[in-house]
Amino acid sequence: MLNWDDYNESEKVQKTQPVVKEEVSIQKQETIEIEEPLTDHVPAEAGDRAKQAKEAIEVLDTKAGEEELEGLAGRVQVDDKAMINCRADLNQLVPFKYDWAWQKYLDGSANHWMPQEVNMTADIALWKSNEGLTEDERTIVMRNLGFFSTADSLVANNLVLAIYRLITNPECRQYILRQGFEEAIHTHAYQYCIESLGMDEGAIFNMYREIPSVAKKASWGLKYTKEISDPGFTTGTDETDKLLLKNLIAFYCVLEGIFFYCGFTQILSMGRRNKMTGTAEQFQYILRDESMHLNFGIDMINQIKLENPHLWDEQMRQEAAQMILEGTELEIQYARDTMPRGILGMNAGMMEEYLQFIANRRLVQIGLEEEFEGASNPFPWMSEIMDLRKEKNFFETRVIEYQTGGALTWD
Ligand code: FE
Repeated sequence: MLNWDDYNESEKVQKTQPVVKEEVSIQKQETIEIEEPLTDHVPAEAGDRAKQAKEAIEVLDTKAGEEELEGLAGRVQVDDKAMINCRADLNQLVPFKYDWAWQKYLDGSANHWMPQEVNMTADIALWKSNEGLTEDERTIVMRNLGFFSTADSLVANNLVLAIYRLITNPECRQYILRQGFEEAIHTHAYQYCIESLGMDEGAIFNMYREIPSVAKKASWGLKYTKEISDPGFTTGTDETDKLLLKNLIAFYCVLEGIFFYCGFTQILSMGRRNKMTGTAEQFQYILRDESMHLNFGIDMINQIKLENPHLWDEQMRQEAAQMILEGTELEIQYARDTMPRGILGMNAGMMEEYLQFIANRRLVQIGLEEEFEGASNPFPWMSEIMDLRKEKNFFETRVIEYQTGGALTWD
C-alpha cells in the first residue's frame, strides 16, 4: 500500500544514488582539461564576468528576433488559426480555436501518475516462483514488455521529430508536449517492470528487431516516421500534406489504436485473474492515457480533413483504409504468435474478432466504412476499462487512489 511517507522515503533513496555518477563526470572533465585544452581563452574573474555580461547586453542586436516576429501578423485572431500550414504566430496560445485540444491537455495533466507508485511486490514473487505462471503466460508477459518497451519510444520520437513542427497550432502542440511526456512515463513503466522482474534487458529491448511478430509492427510504423522526419521536409503541397495525414493515421489509428490492443487485453486479462497485478495496473494506467492519445489523434485527423477537404479524395480514403487493414493483419499475426494455445479465457480466434471490431471502429472514426460485417466485441470488460464516464471518475478520485495505492478494480 502506498502512502506519502513511502513516497518521501523512495525519494530519499533516489537522491543518494547519483553520487557515484557525479564522481565519474568530475573525473572525465579533469581528464579533458589536462590532456587537451580546448581554447587559449583565459577564464575571467567573477567580477569581470558580470561586467562582460552587462556589456554584451548593452550591444545586444535584437534585429534577428524582431524580423522573425515581423513576418507574423501581430495579435492572433481565432480565424487566423489552422491545423496545418498556418502563418499566424505560434507563440500565442490564445485565443483558443480548438477547445477539444486544450481540454485534452487539461484532462491528461489531471491524470498524472508515475510507475514507482505501483506496488510490484506480488509480481516479483510470482515471477520468481516456479509454479506461479505457465510457460505460455510467461511468454505473453515477455513478448508484451518486449513490444511495448520500444513502441512508446517510436511514438515519442515520431511526435517530437516528425509531427510537432508540422502541426501549426499552439493548443494542439500543448497537448502533443503533454503526450510526449506521457510516452516517456510509459517507457519508464515498462523499464520499471522489466527491472523489477529481473528480466534479461538486452533480450527484451531488442525484441523489436529480433522477434518477427514484434519487429514487423515496429518497422511498419518507422516507415511513416522516416517519410516526414527529414528536417528539410515541409508541408504545403497536396502530396506533402497527405504524407503528414498518413503519418497521423499510422501512429494514432494504427500504432496507438490497434497495435496496443492485443497486448493490453492479454495483460489486463492476467490482472483480472489476480496474476501480475502490478504489471497489469501499470498497463491499465497506460491504457487510460493511450485512449486519450487516440481520441486526440482522431480529432486532429478529422479537423485537418474538415479544413482541407481536397486532401480526403478517393485515393487518400483508399490508402487510409488499406493502412488500417494492414495494421489489423499485423496485430492478428501478433495474437497468433503470442497465443499458440488458448490462455487466460481467450484465444487467437477471439482476439482476431476483437481486432476486427476495433478496426471497424477506427475506420468509422475517420469517416470510412466498416470492413468486417458483424464483428462484435468478445471482451466487453475492455470497453468498461476504457469507458469515458469511468475515466472521469478516475480523474475525480485520483488523489485518494494515489494515497491508498492499488485502488483500481478488475470488474
Ligand atoms: Fe501514446
